[in-house]
Amino acid sequence: MSSLSLAPPSVPANRRRWLWWSMLVALIAVAQTWLVSLTIDFQSSRAQQRVDATTSAVAGALRHRLFVDTQRLSALADSRQAGTAWRQEARALLLSQRELLRVELRDRSLKVVDALDNPLHKPLFSDFPRSQLDFATQNACLAARRAGQPQYSQSYFVPLGNGLGEEVMDLCIARVVDDRLGGYLVGSISLASLLESVESPAVANDNEVSFVDGDGTRVVRTGSPHGAGVFVADRVVNVPGHSLQLHVDSASGRPGVIPNLTTALVLGLSLLLFGVVLVLAHDVRRRAQAERALGESLAFRKAMEDSVLAGLRARDMQGRVTFANQAFCDMVGYAPSQLLGRDEQAYWPVRDAAAAATETGQGGAGYETEFVSSAGRRFPVMIHESRLLDRIGRQTGWICTALDLSAQRRIEEVSRRQQDRLQASARLATIGEMASLLSHELNQPLSAIASFTTGSINLLDDPQPLPAQPSLLRQALERIAEQTERAGRVIRSVQDFVRRREHERHAIEADRLIDTILPLVRMQARRGACRVEVEVEQPAPGVLCDRTMVEQVLINLARNGLQAMEQTAQADPLLRIEVRRLARGMVEFAVSDLGTGISDEVRAQLFTPFFTTRDEGMGLGLSLCRTVVEQHGGSLDFDNLLDSQGRVAGACFRFTLPAAASRHDPMAAEPPGHA
Ligand code: ADP
Repeated sequence: MSSLSLAPPSVPANRRRWLWWSMLVALIAVAQTWLVSLTIDFQSSRAQQRVDATTSAVAGALRHRLFVDTQRLSALADSRQAGTAWRQEARALLLSQRELLRVELRDRSLKVVDALDNPLHKPLFSDFPRSQLDFATQNACLAARRAGQPQYSQSYFVPLGNGLGEEVMDLCIARVVDDRLGGYLVGSISLASLLESVESPAVANDNEVSFVDGDGTRVVRTGSPHGAGVFVADRVVNVPGHSLQLHVDSASGRPGVIPNLTTALVLGLSLLLFGVVLVLAHDVRRRAQAERALGESLAFRKAMEDSVLAGLRARDMQGRVTFANQAFCDMVGYAPSQLLGRDEQAYWPVRDAAAAATETGQGGAGYETEFVSSAGRRFPVMIHESRLLDRIGRQTGWICTALDLSAQRRIEEVSRRQQDRLQASARLATIGEMASLLSHELNQPLSAIASFTTGSINLLDDPQPLPAQPSLLRQALERIAEQTERAGRVIRSVQDFVRRREHERHAIEADRLIDTILPLVRMQARRGACRVEVEVEQPAPGVLCDRTMVEQVLINLARNGLQAMEQTAQADPLLRIEVRRLARGMVEFAVSDLGTGISDEVRAQLFTPFFTTRDEGMGLGLSLCRTVVEQHGGSLDFDNLLDSQGRVAGACFRFTLPAAASRHDPMAAEPPGHA
């Protein structure tokens, strides 16, 4: 089953997630703080820029206004009019330039000869005599005369009663009449009105505009609000003879943190929200994927449970069945409802604790037991049980696969019978081949018996028996008995081999196996004048085997070797049978000959049933040998033997069998499967 991502997050995963979230929040907080500080800085610099621009604009307007005032007053100074006409001209000027509070005509000795106050303003020197505030004006006039151009005086304060007053600055223009100094024209300019005349409502609403003196004391101010003292700008407005210091102070204070913080908070929260939405979308997608995977995996599991041929059954720790697939129900013949939730099962052959115990899974390797179907059929089952773990690795029960072995047993039985039949046929075939050999072997004792019998009869028929007749007769009879015994041994050795024995495995010493087959092997070897050597490691190892079958294997291999040697012109044919112990509890049997060896062509088909190169062969020998050896848990292989020049000089067939304790060797390893 594919793994699912729906498992609950582990503790480190939870911690990691919290860490991510904390980092995100911290990041947003830092970003917000930075944003707020940047915004405040930006707003401050914008406000300062505005004040600077306003100040420059007001200064420019002031310069222009004063230039106009200078032009107009110069025109009045140059006027040839006198008396009433002059006064009318001066009045018109005063009405048009509201910051001009008064114009005076002075003679060359600076004495005021005529003066006109602005009709829209209280007369300037109504409360305070002009003569007492004339110092700055006279200085300006003297300077104007020296410079030959209009000069402004220092500003001075003119009280107007009730604690009020007017800060004024005089412009003095020297009048030239016929290239000579004819007197002076003095215009008094109200600094407050001057400021108001150049100040737009927008500037006046947002700023406090003032003139300040050298030590920063405010001399005149306009503008409705009071300056906050945060965003200020100063400009010097230079006019001939004097310079005015313009000071603009914005009413707006330092940008507030709170409104900016609120904006940033809203922004931050929006970002956070966006992040959360992204995370949620990601989460939803993952969840959907996980659900899809879960669905697929459940469908896959269901299909697997339904299609699997082995029975699947799960039980909890109390032994109650919690799950049984269709194959299991079909196998035992009970519906799921008859199985689920029960700890004692109807398919146990004996309903007792022992049966239950065999069913209590130990995990690991499988074990065989028996079930009884609902129809009463007993059948063998192979159970493989393993621990059932929950998602955190805690055992919650057992799960097992149960395989009905009935069919397998049937096949095994059929195969065993076939093997037996094949073995029998092979044995008979071997005997058939040996028939001539047998007749030759029996011929000798039988002819000896016949001749001793004839000799004995002759002795008995002798009309004049010799005195030694009884002893001669006895000797002849003893020879007959010996020969009979010999013939009997030949026949018994064949009988022993042919007689069918039970296929049971017993521990037997290797030398005893060899001894049994040796008479038959030697019998065949004699025909080809072949030597037979046997070398069994001492003490003789024991093997666990079906004796008849292994004898058959040895006979087959020996016979093949002898036959291979018959086909060569080997001067000294030799068949060697060796037995030795191997590591890991196995015993090796080797049968080697000095025959033709195995060609590549034969090698490829050597173990194929019915493959033979001999006319009278059946081609079953080696395939049977391999089956028998493998049934015993061993293996059969072969090699060509090479002579000193590297030429093929024979073949050696080796097979192994599990070792068993022998009478010589009580320490031999226990055979596999008996542990
Ligand atoms: P069969 O003896 O009836 O031919 P086997 O299965 O015993 O059947 O042997 C198959 C073939 O393997 C033999 O015909 C022979 O060609 C070859 N063979 C078996 N043993 C040897 C051997 N020791 N040396 C050479 N060839 C062999």
